[in-house]
Amino acid sequence: MATVSLEAIRKSFGSTDVIHGVDIDIEDGEFIVIVGPSGCGKSTLLRMVAGLETVTSGEVCIGGNRVNDLEPMDRDIAMVFQNYALYPHMTVFDNMAYGLKIAGTAKDEIVERVDSAARLLQLEDYLKRRPRELSGGQRQRVAMGRAIVRKPSVFLFDEPLSNLDAKLRVQMRLEIKQLQRRLGVTSLYVTHDQVEAMTLADRMIVMNGGIADQIGAPLEVYANPATEFVAGFIGSPP
Ligand code: ADP
Ligand code: MG
Repeated sequence: MATVSLEAIRKSFGSTDVIHGVDIDIEDGEFIVIVGPSGCGKSTLLRMVAGLETVTSGEVCIGGNRVNDLEPMDRDIAMVFQNYALYPHMTVFDNMAYGLKIAGTAKDEIVERVDSAARLLQLEDYLKRRPRELSGGQRQRVAMGRAIVRKPSVFLFDEPLSNLDAKLRVQMRLEIKQLQRRLGVTSLYVTHDQVEAMTLADRMIVMNGGIADQIGAPLEVYANPATEFVAGFIGSPP
């Protein structure tokens, strides 16, 4: 488990400012949703937390350590993307085990962790299948499983449900929330969907063109929007 802090984060690509001064201290076990329209900088912000993108200025710390001082393997985070990025030729078991094998985890330990994640995700009966033999929801669960087996301190999600149909999106949203509650892992979750944000977040960061217009609990933001943009974005029907 870990706290995450973002201090005066800025990011420019060339002369274009993409993120301007985001500040937040995230508590251990908190579920933070970064929400805003397409192009407002959500993915860039998440990628800076992952250390996949350098910060132009400011600092990202995970568990008190500066992210950019850590080697990728030592970052202790796991990321789930919208396109799952599963290996089509590997079984579900091997997809979930892959990262652990690379990290040199002992075989017994790998089997134990994959089995335990499979139970949690109701994938026990699918471990020998390949991704193409699974439904969209099951594939998304495998992607979650791959993150869980690594026992990270922080989960990062980038629009993990946006490829699913509306009904499945609602179901998986609930599953992700329950899972996060159960595991208590600090989570940052990116979405452009206001309802998803309201449902999942302990606190949400409402992004508007690279600026965090408001940070707060969903009902607080809903009841007291800090800017006209937030009022329009959170108040408008999905
Ligand atoms: P979101 O995830 O909210 O849709 P992004 O973080 O992907 O937004 O992008 C924010 C802005 O930064 C966009 O205008 C995008 O074009 C720009 N951007 C993202 N990555 C790069 C990059 N590697 N080089 C140049 N511009 C980028
Ligand atoms: Mg994005």
